[in-house]
Order: sequence, then structure tokens, then C-alpha cells
Amino acid sequence: MNIVDLKSPDDSKKAGQEIYSLIAELFPICRSITGDGYRQTMSILQRDIPIKIHEIPSGTQVFDWTVPREWNIRDAYVKNAKGERVIDFRKSNLHVLNYSIPVKKIVSLAELKEHLFTLPDHPDWVPYRTSYYKDNWGFCLSHNELLKLEDGDYEVYVDSTLEPGSLTYGELYLEGEEQEEILISCHCCHPSLANDNLSGIGVATLLVKYLQTVPHRFSYRFIFIPGTIGAITWLAMNEANLNRIKHGLVITGVGDAGKITYKKSRRGNAEVDRATAHVLKHSGQNHDLIDFYPYGYDERQYCSPAFNLPVGCFMRTPYAQYPEYHTSADNLESLSPESLGDSFSKLLGILQILDNNRIYLNLNPKCEPQLGKRGLYSSIGANELALLWVLNMSDGDNSLLDIAERSGIGFTAIQEAARILSTSDLLKENRETN
Ligand code: ZN
Repeated sequence: MNIVDLKSPDDSKKAGQEIYSLIAELFPICRSITGDGYRQTMSILQRDIPIKIHEIPSGTQVFDWTVPREWNIRDAYVKNAKGERVIDFRKSNLHVLNYSIPVKKIVSLAELKEHLFTLPDHPDWVPYRTSYYKDNWGFCLSHNELLKLEDGDYEVYVDSTLEPGSLTYGELYLEGEEQEEILISCHCCHPSLANDNLSGIGVATLLVKYLQTVPHRFSYRFIFIPGTIGAITWLAMNEANLNRIKHGLVITGVGDAGKITYKKSRRGNAEVDRATAHVLKHSGQNHDLIDFYPYGYDERQYCSPAFNLPVGCFMRTPYAQYPEYHTSADNLESLSPESLGDSFSKLLGILQILDNNRIYLNLNPKCEPQLGKRGLYSSIGANELALLWVLNMSDGDNSLLDIAERSGIGFTAIQEAARILSTSDLLKENRETN
């Protein structure tokens, strides 16, 4: 109920710096959809926020999918005939194909090349590649490094294990005044990639820390899951409780310099879609609102037809639309504390609307009440036009967001008008229809 948008740019910058420091700490860890890198990431987050860890055994059936074997890696390299590590996992965890099966053998350059991945269009960058559901081994390297490999034999070594274990995910529940929930979801399964992955984790973590300090009407459920299989697993484990989710957001790619992009829920006009559109419109900043499509992040699962949850995706530049996406160039330099702080403060603005959007009833609906005799025309901070809009529209059907949209006045001013009118006994919450 008291969630407030961060007003000063200094606050937002400070928030951005805090998020950035957490991201920098998490960046070196080799994460995947399962394994110790994932657990290590969760345990670092647990230092700041009380995440509960769930372990779902490999082989568990989750709708049409099966929880995969657990992958762990200790080392990987390709050595040339001189014994030099020409590709070295210790330099960057992107060098190994994520989920690579263990291998130790001598291969010719021709055979090696069948297992190498590069980006000829960005010859200095190392691509990020995975092979979760098909047993394979491989290495990723810059195209320039590939061109330097000479004919001859190479020793390839991947010291990994792929065996029955579990899929790990984190979940955090913040109880509100009501049982109904706002779901916040971010994927945590990428190795050293900053914007796609860590930016969402960092912003979600600070949202938890902030929400812990203020009373709120809705309960919040934050989930820190591996992409796709984690969302599917979580939905399968929680199917009975999904009706509690009133609003939801997937948060990802929120640290780059691009404008904010919001991908609407499949419903297209859910309250979270409207609240986000309102915040972005009133920010005065360039932004994009895009319609749902069944590709992208975990909104695909939340918005699958059997669930059709009101969950949108909040990002800056969409995935695959920035060249650094899924490459070594999505590093700490591709993020800025300013962008992270701006994303954080806009998300708080959205949560503020969702948490405070209610329907009120005008208790003096026959003509306008005489505001002057109640001192409301002179009350400090009262936006008189907002008072008149709230009085006129509060017939038991319109929410504060409806009024904000129709009047063109920002939600915060409409909310404040409702507070002032309630204090003057001219308005009461219409609980029956809420
Ligand atoms: Zn990704």
C-alpha cells in the first residue's frame, strides 16, 4: 500500500549501483539449467534475501518434459601439439558448450572443427551455445582464434559430469495483506552473460529487499528459475495454486542502454499490461509496447493456453535484437548502473499501481460536493482536477487506473486525490466489487 516510486534520480542511481555490484559478483560463475553453479548463485542471493531452494530430481515428468540429468563441470580445454591450452575454460566459461558431455581424446583439426562454434560476423566475440537435450561435446571461441589453429592433432578434454541429480530453483514468498499474488520471474541459467540473465536477477533481488521494507496489499512470489525447463517445472509443481496469481512479470535484459520494451501478456489488456503502459507513457521517455507472441522468455510458459496467466515481459532491448546477445560481449561493460536503476524504478512504479489500484465509491454523488467548505480547494498538494475526476468516476465501476487512463493524469496524483477524498469522508473503497 505504501509502495512508492523512487523520486530522485540519485536514489535510482544508488539502486543501480547496488544491483551492478551484485551482478559483478555473480558474473564469473558457470551456471547452467542444473548443477552447482546454479546452487552457488542461489546461495549468494540467500545472503541478501531469504530464498527457499527447491531440488527436483532428474527424471521427474513435468507436463510434456522431463527434468534432465544434472550437469557439472570442473575444467575443459583444447591443447595443441605443444601442450598449450589454445581454448581454455578457465579463461571464460563460455568456451565450453554448455551441457557438454565429458570427453578426453586426441582429434585431428578437421574433427575438432566439427565441434567448434564461432561468430564470423563478430570475429572477436565468443558465442554462447548449449546442448541441453542432445548429447554432444564442443567448444566456443572467437573466429580470429579459430583462424590461428594450425593443422595437426589436438587434445580435447571436458571434465564434466552429466548424471542423475536434480534441477535447482529458488522461490521467495513475501506475505501481503491479501493472499492474492504478484508473480515475479527471472531466469538464472546462463553462465557469464550480464544483460541476458544477471540484470534480471539483480533487479529482482533489489525489488525483494525493497518490498521487505514496506507494507503491501498483494503477496509476492519471486521465482529464480532456469529458463524454459524451470518455468515448466515450477508450473507443474504449483498448478493447484496458480489461481492466486493476479499479476505477473518476467524481468530480463534490463541493464543495457536501450529504451524499455514491454511485451504484453497473452491477454493483451491485463491490468499489468495497462499499469506498465501507464508508467511508460507518463515517464515521457521513448519506449516500446509490443504484443504477445509465443517466443522469447518464460512468459511463453505462463501464457500457454491452459494457464493464460496475466504475465508480461519487462525488458530493455529485446533478446536477439542487440548484437551482444548470447556472446562474450554481453559482459559487465554492456550494463550501466543508470539503466539498471531506471528499470528498477519503473518496475516499482508498476508495482505501486498494481498494489494501489482499487475501486472507490463517491459518497456524495448528487452533484459535486462543496470542496471549498472542506478546505479541499486549498489543500497543499491536492490536484483539484484529479479530485474532480476521482469524484466523478467513482461510481463503483471504475478503478483508479481507469480514472488515470481516462483523465490523462498520472496514477500517483489520482491515488493521492483518492486518499484526500477518503480522509474527508467523500469516498470509500468499494470492497464488494473489488
Ligand atoms: Zn538467453
